[in-house]
Amino acid sequence: MTAPVIGVLALQGDVREHLAALRAQGAEPVPVRRPEELAAVDGLVVPGGESTTMVKLADRFGLLEPLRAAVRRGLPAYGSCAGMILLADRVLDAPADQQTIGGLDVTVRRNAFGRQIDSFESRVELAGVPGGPLHAVFIRAPWVEQAGPAVEVLGRVVGGPADGKIVAVRQGRLVATSFHPELTGDTRVHALFVDLVRAARDADPDGADLGADDGGTQP
Ligand code: GLN
Repeated sequence: MTAPVIGVLALQGDVREHLAALRAQGAEPVPVRRPEELAAVDGLVVPGGESTTMVKLADRFGLLEPLRAAVRRGLPAYGSCAGMILLADRVLDAPADQQTIGGLDVTVRRNAFGRQIDSFESRVELAGVPGGPLHAVFIRAPWVEQAGPAVEVLGRVVGGPADGKIVAVRQGRLVATSFHPELTGDTRVHALFVDLVRAARDADPDGADLGADDGGTQP
């Protein structure tokens, strides 16, 4: 089996770190800036950065609609931090005109942890990620304020002022974390995502690229 090709949306944010984490987990990572590049991937990472900037650039590069269409067709996607915001259907504390790619039936709150704890680190236990709690780094991070019935909660903050807040979710082929596993050298979340991408590719009988706009429909 060849390595799955996993794109990292490379308009802004911590692209390099995701490329490295994906490579460490046996995927073939590629930066994605154009619709043709999106069309060639088996899965996509939306990195951390600034969600308002990233979405504006995606729009300007003609990528926003292709991204939405790809997610609707079932392209596996993983968003960390700003990437979680971009995969959410609803965003609080965002500019009124903030658009997203969407797909995850969640409401996220931007910069949710407040000014006093802009950035902090915590240990988070994640469902489906063996080997004990992850060291999670939060940087002006969102949390999930509300999750629809199809959304599986993978992890919550334990202890401190944000005790119990949802910081990792999955819905079908979409995964999102409030924190940045790409910054810690712990690639277990990327391993989970690479497995998900392999499974999605194996489930696709003719191996069509899910990123491509070939008129296919979401399974
Ligand atoms: N606060 C940023 C935003 O709203 C996200 C921060 C991050 O990705 N580290 O887009």
